Amino acid sequence: MKTAIQPKYNMTVVTCACGNQFESGSVKQELRVEICSACHPFFTGKQKFMDAGGRVDRFKKKYGI
Ligand SMILES: [Zn+2]
Repeated sequence: MKTAIQPKYNMTVVTCACGNQFESGSVKQELRVEICSACHPFFTGKQKFMDAGGRVDRFKKKYGI
C-alpha cells in the first residue's frame, strides 16, 4: 500500500457564531462555522442560540428554521 500524497492537516482554531472556539484538524488556517456542538440543539437538547450580531438569524433564515 502506497503512502498517498495528502494535504497536511494542522490543528485549526474553529470559531463558531456562538462565540465558542475549539480546535479541529483542517487544511485551512482558520475556520468559521455558524453552529457547533456547543450550541446546536441536537447536542444541547434545547433551542437556544446566543446571537452574535444577527449571524444566527441569517443562518435560521437561510435554512428556514
Ligand atoms: Zn456554537
